[in-house]
Amino acid sequence: MPDLPTLSAAPASVDPWQPAFVEIVAIHDETPGVRTFDLAAPHGYTFEPGQFNMLYVPGYGEAAISISSHPKSPQVISHTIRRAGNVTGALFRCQPGDRIGLRGPFGSSWPVGRYRGANVVIAAGGIGLAPLRPAIYQLAAHREDYGRVAVVYGSRHPKDLLYRETFDQWRRADIEVLVTVDFADDHWTGPIGVVPTLLEQLPWMGPHTTLWTCGPEIMMRFTAQQALRQGITPDHLYLSLERNMNCAVGLCGHCQFGPSFVCKDGPVYAYRQIAPFLFVHDF
Ligand SMILES: Cc1cc2nc3c(=O)[nH]c(=O)nc-3n(C[C@H](O)[C@H](O)[C@H](O)COP(=O)(O)OP(=O)(O)OC[C@H]3O[C@@H](n4cnc5c(N)ncnc54)[C@H](O)[C@@H]3O)c2cc1C
Repeated sequence: MPDLPTLSAAPASVDPWQPAFVEIVAIHDETPGVRTFDLAAPHGYTFEPGQFNMLYVPGYGEAAISISSHPKSPQVISHTIRRAGNVTGALFRCQPGDRIGLRGPFGSSWPVGRYRGANVVIAAGGIGLAPLRPAIYQLAAHREDYGRVAVVYGSRHPKDLLYRETFDQWRRADIEVLVTVDFADDHWTGPIGVVPTLLEQLPWMGPHTTLWTCGPEIMMRFTAQQALRQGITPDHLYLSLERNMNCAVGLCGHCQFGPSFVCKDGPVYAYRQIAPFLFVHDF
């Protein structure tokens, strides 16, 4: 297993203040209140799994949104968005063919390349699967480079599960996909409960496993605790944080988290880097 890495942020586009105006090429309904927006990528645009863009709707402002598409699909950049307020509300009124502003990519990324040879567990809650999906695509594309790989995913209700149509594709790529819900409906035959309980179904988790998690902070907190109990070391545990964001280049201070700025030092952090500020834990 590699040493504790410093997750460096990849450089943003040439002028990080200047949005590129890009076309919305398609909009997909995902779950109630959640849609995926496919944007035409600016020329030469590249990103790493876990990074985000600032999406700008003129007259409404900007919102930080993770990239949810395949890093090797350079023509289209997808963003899976929950309607929350001002900017996302305006985005939901857009149609294919409309143009919006995009700055980015910003932030640190999941350490996909660093863990070749190791077991990988992806633990996601709700819309937290979106920023992990590019990493899953990469793991699937280079599956033979890794040990065991599992996606452990939970949502409140079955109707809130994102990307259900791709679970079987991931399974065919030799990725274990375990899914749970907090509240079942009449059709649900899978597990009921929270994400950390599913980790117990992965007895192979241990010191040669890295776990990457994104979701509500309470879910990440219990996931981290369970992962540590199952032998994953704090150095190999990563989580993605969300904080209210404004400039995205580490100047305005809106997203300050302990001594760091989530926009440039995160959103993906090694657990050991941020645990003292996230919640008290003795390791
Ligand atoms: C790095 C990063 C990646 C993100 N990726 C996604 C994504 O992939 N998909 C997605 O739907 N959303 C994502 N978000 C969250 C999104 O940026 C916020 O929901 C944003 O505020 C929406 O803008 P708005 O103008 O529509 O809502 P606003 O009008 O700004 O806010 C709606 C409500 O949410 C609160 N709020 C604002 N920002 C946050 C925040 N970061 N955390 C908690 N509460 C907040 C506000 O105080 C307000 O109560 C991400 C945020 C960050 C920092």
